[in-house]
Amino acid sequence: MVQKTLKLITDAMLGKLTTFLRLFGYDTIYANDLEEIYNIEPVPDNLIGKYGEETNRIIITKDYPFYRKIPERGIYLEGEGVYNFLKQLKLELGLKYDLSMKKARCSACNSKLRIVTNKNDIKDKLNDSTFTSYDIFYQCTNSECQKIFWNGPHIKDIKKRLKNHFKSKEK
Ligand SMILES: [Zn+2]
Repeated sequence: MVQKTLKLITDAMLGKLTTFLRLFGYDTIYANDLEEIYNIEPVPDNLIGKYGEETNRIIITKDYPFYRKIPERGIYLEGEGVYNFLKQLKLELGLKYDLSMKKARCSACNSKLRIVTNKNDIKDKLNDSTFTSYDIFYQCTNSECQKIFWNGPHIKDIKKRLKNHFKSKEK
């Protein structure tokens, strides 16, 4: 699966898209997260471009002048709406959108997830109804994050919408 090795950067303003791409398992750095690395806010285009080059990432942006500076490494998104963006990325990069917790990355920090083998270990991090309603949980492997994921209503909703938006073409 070549496309899973694809590494991405999402420009500022694309926070929701970032979340989605990570859930689909794509290694995605959000431009706003580079503020910590470069200690500057907002991170200027030339530094985002430099980071993209150094880490061999494709840069996804809604900023046309920025895109013009990095045509060989950039993807320019038109219009609005995360599903519209996903469609464009599917066309341009051949991305696939299967939502499986096993392959997902943490939506908050882009780290890989691991399955929680004993849900009692994370009981104090969940509300009671979630704890009792679900048996399978995944947790971010980044010790500073440790966000927990499960196939809740939010995930089911994304799956349903994906089906509607990518009906016949998907698989
Ligand atoms: Zn995380």
